[in-house]
Amino acid sequence: MDFELNDIQKMVQETARNFAENEIAPYVEEDELNHYYRREILSKMGDLGLLGWNIPEEYGGNGMGWMEGVLALYEISKVHTSWRLSISGNCWGPAMTINQFGTEDQKQRFIPKLVSGEYIGSFAMTEANSGSDVASMKCFAEDKGDHYIINGSKMWISGGHVSDVGLLYVLTEKGKGAKGLSCFVIDYNNTPGVEKIPITTKFGMYCAPTSELVFENSIVPKENLLGTIGQGFSICMWQLNNTRMGCATGAASLSAAALEGAVNYANERLQFGQPIGKFQLIQQQITEMKLEDEAAKYLVYHAAWLKDHGLPNQQATSMAKLYGCKAAVNAANLAMKIYGSYGYSTEYPCARWLRDAKQFETLEGTSNIHTGIIASIELGYQPNR
Ligand SMILES: Cc1cc2nc3c(=O)[nH]c(=O)nc-3n(C[C@H](O)[C@H](O)[C@H](O)COP(=O)(O)OP(=O)(O)OC[C@H]3O[C@@H](n4cnc5c(N)ncnc54)[C@H](O)[C@@H]3O)c2cc1C
Repeated sequence: MDFELNDIQKMVQETARNFAENEIAPYVEEDELNHYYRREILSKMGDLGLLGWNIPEEYGGNGMGWMEGVLALYEISKVHTSWRLSISGNCWGPAMTINQFGTEDQKQRFIPKLVSGEYIGSFAMTEANSGSDVASMKCFAEDKGDHYIINGSKMWISGGHVSDVGLLYVLTEKGKGAKGLSCFVIDYNNTPGVEKIPITTKFGMYCAPTSELVFENSIVPKENLLGTIGQGFSICMWQLNNTRMGCATGAASLSAAALEGAVNYANERLQFGQPIGKFQLIQQQITEMKLEDEAAKYLVYHAAWLKDHGLPNQQATSMAKLYGCKAAVNAANLAMKIYGSYGYSTEYPCARWLRDAKQFETLEGTSNIHTGIIASIELGYQPNR
């Protein structure tokens, strides 16, 4: 077992850290205040190859795998969690899924522009009445010979109203449950009948747009079907097992950001004539954060390692995601306590950490759903894929 990163991984980590410090950090407070999605950051990520993990170089990928991608996402998310979504939204979501299930034509049409950051990507399965129970979705694509007509809506879609290209999971055969779902690649700039409604009432993730998408007689060419008819559910589960790594890594890095902030503050803030870090109760909080932070990080690394080696990793991915979100929420909560009144002020990042940490308990499988996956695999009720 080797705990040391290799030279390439160290270089990736440093590149992403410098990028986050120079290109993202200067805008965090301003953009949080305005709930602003700074589009040019995505283009710059693409220029640097930060959107090309697990994608073959012939389609513009960077030729590197999970471990490197995780290291890069970690550095970006540590500075501003909103930006962790772009790696899943462009790369591990649509680009990687098209690379796995797409035709040569689909790969050439969509992947290079997703990994270069020319396109904003998305993936849409959730509906107002279909969340954890993915197979209960109602958005329907009707076969019209050489094209499909889509009617229905999607809810809570990251990047939805700004997306150029995205995966859309729909029902193509009613009454067949999970076997009746299919997946399409939607070219949103050339698909009529799509209303894109920004969701402006979010609790956090202020700089990562979220949307409702309403499809009304939207025409989608047949060549945009990904995989085969009825394969949508298995494509969706395959995709989620990848994009969940974005959540797991983002959560672990948010925990690290909160810990780092709390340590600095505890060393600077004086009460009773000494830094508050000297008090045992503060030390207990720091130790709790450190333990959980370290465990969350190594669960992510382990899941990435399994993926890179083509080994079963669904349980490891769920453990990294579930534990990461526990660590992130707890770290953000403890950091806010350690910062005292200043923690409660929006002039300090504690409130943002707490708001952003809470997302991880819900999206890409709620904590209850991941608890169920881990136990079901452990008990032998489902295979560990
Ligand atoms: C900021 C944000 C971004 C998102 N981005 C996307 C996106 O890009 N694409 C997309 O498709 N979706 C996206 N989502 C949607 C997200 O994936 C869903 O919200 C999530 O899957 C949960 O669905 P739900 O909200 O309908 O909750 P529900 O499924 O209704 O769950 C409600 C509660 O019931 C519990 N519950 C449900 N079923 C069970 C069960 N079997 N056992 C135990 N407890 C259960 C849940 O744990 C939860 O506590 C996003 C959501 C947010 C908040």
